[in-house]
Parts: sequence; C-alpha cells; structure tokens
Amino acid sequence: MAGTFTFHVVSPEGDVLKEEVEFVVLPGIDGELGILPNHAPLIAALETGVITYTVNGKKKKAAISGGFVEVSENKATVLADTAEVAEAIDVERALAAKERAEKRLAQKSPDTDMKRAEYAFRRAIARLNAADGKNL
Ligand code: ATP
Repeated sequence: MAGTFTFHVVSPEGDVLKEEVEFVVLPGIDGELGILPNHAPLIAALETGVITYTVNGKKKKAAISGGFVEVSENKATVLADTAEVAEAIDVERALAAKERAEKRLAQKSPDTDMKRAEYAFRRAIARLNAADGKNL
C-alpha cells in the first residue's frame, strides 16, 4: 500500500521545503537515488542536480548544488549547499550564469579557475532543468 514520508530540504539560508511525499529521486554521487516510504537508514553524498519529489501523485522539482541526504525513521533530510524549489528559480538569472560560465570555460585563460566555472555551469544547468529546462 502506498504511504508517505517527510521530505525536508535545508540550505544555509534555512528551510527550502518540507512536505509529505510519496517518492523522491535524488542525484547521488554514484547515480540516481530513489527513496520510498520506510526506506532503510542511509547517509549519502549528493551531486549538483535536480531533485524530483511526488506529492499527492504530482511530480515536483527542485535544484540542489551538492550536499548530502540522511534517511531515518520515515524521514529524508537533504542538507545542501544551495537549494531552490522550481517556482523559486529565476530562469533569467540562471541563463545569465550559464552564459558567463560557458564564456569562461571557452576562454581557457590561465587566470580562469576552470573548476569554479565548471561548478557554476553545473549549478545553472541544474536550475534550468528544475525550472523545466526551458531555453536550455
Ligand atoms: P549567480 O552567479 O547567479 O549568483 P551562483 O550559481 O553563483 O549564481 P550560488 O552561489 O549557487 O549562485 O547561490 C547563491 C544564492 O542565490 C543561493 O541562496 C541560491 O539559492 C540563490 N540562487 C542562485 N541562482 C538562483 C536562481 N537562478 N534562482 C533563484 N535563486 C538562485
């Protein structure tokens, strides 16, 4: 029988979301991590990417940049470096960030911190995907 569990996402800025959900898919560092009610206890590191979570049969999305998840006692808690639910994502801002990062990556200047540009690019892509990938 289908049940629910509490899904909580926290960033340094505070609570990003807290909902009763049926299913969550997270971007684990070793691949997608699906969590159903009554999942076994777990701690796992997360990649920058898109979270999907199902509330009353409706799929919702959020973006996160790194962090980890803890699952215990029918509750999943994500602690993320940054996190935004789809409705809170400023698509224009993410597009501008993506373009900036792309330019830096293309320039390959010795003054460019390539890792930093790469991470900024991934954060922007995650946000655009969570906000439905429009204009990608
Ligand atoms: P930017 O260059 O646009 O600031 P960034 O990837 O460097 O993007 P972060 O350092 O990851 O930004 O995030 C800083 C704060 O701004 C975080 O609280 C994050 O949730 C928020 N944020 C960043 N980009 C967006 C966006 N497109 N829409 C909504 N919130 C955003």
